[in-house]
Amino acid sequence: MTFTAMDLEMLAECPWCCSSDHVEWGRPVRNFLSAECMSCKLIFVKNRLNEKALQKYYATYLTDMHRADALKNKQRELMYELEFKFIDKISGPGKVLDVGCGAGLFLDVFKANGYSCHGVEFGAEAAAAASKKHQIYTGNFSKLGITEKFDLIVFRGVIEHIPQPRAYLDEAVRLLDNGGYIFITSTPNADAFSCELFKEKWNQHVPEAHLMHFRPDHFEQYFRSVGLEIIAEYFFYEETPYANFEEDIIAVAKAIEMRRAGKPVDFISPGFWGNMMSIVYVKR
Ligand SMILES: [Zn+2]
Repeated sequence: MTFTAMDLEMLAECPWCCSSDHVEWGRPVRNFLSAECMSCKLIFVKNRLNEKALQKYYATYLTDMHRADALKNKQRELMYELEFKFIDKISGPGKVLDVGCGAGLFLDVFKANGYSCHGVEFGAEAAAAASKKHQIYTGNFSKLGITEKFDLIVFRGVIEHIPQPRAYLDEAVRLLDNGGYIFITSTPNADAFSCELFKEKWNQHVPEAHLMHFRPDHFEQYFRSVGLEIIAEYFFYEETPYANFEEDIIAVAKAIEMRRAGKPVDFISPGFWGNMMSIVYVKR
């Protein structure tokens, strides 16, 4: 998909803390510029896709995902299992809402394990597919006005895609039952060594889709401010299908050598320790 200036919106302020104090981060990728907020350290795309362009982008996201090769889909299924086991040990079966549930594939795992499954999806095609199996709300989560409550609300690889992430998190907190959990998972971690080393060549830097890169601190401060407590934090890597220790270490070492020689790193980072975060918060 190609985009023109008409598809972009320019941010003057950090989309998380609203500070206008930021510095350039990394080099442009496909003409997308990124910045790091000097106040909260969020890394964000400055000239990002606007709401209309995002709608166009996600309208066919499902087809695009299906076109991804069989290996990638198999790897994602293994991740669903790992992440499900992690949260299931904490929450146990109940009523789950998966925000940005795509075609409902992560929810399928919950359903197979006795959960009551609900989802929210912005992409029309994916929402239609998920609706065949689960209770699905279609549209912008923060504007749907959902009235039922949930025991577990999941954001899997989602919050970094949202132009107004606070509105989504606020809505999740509102819809969470007392004693319920919010699970943020498969979200890129800007505190990762590879993010700092590779910058725009970090494998998570996909500016069309990943509008910002959070650090665990962003969530920690936010959830504390709304009365939720962190109860688990994990960074999947070694047990994932993406890990290839020897090759990954060699690639990262090569990048370190390039940086020491004052050269820009010119290849995309491999999977590595710390790249992705999974964090669980509880509403007491
Ligand atoms: Zn900020």
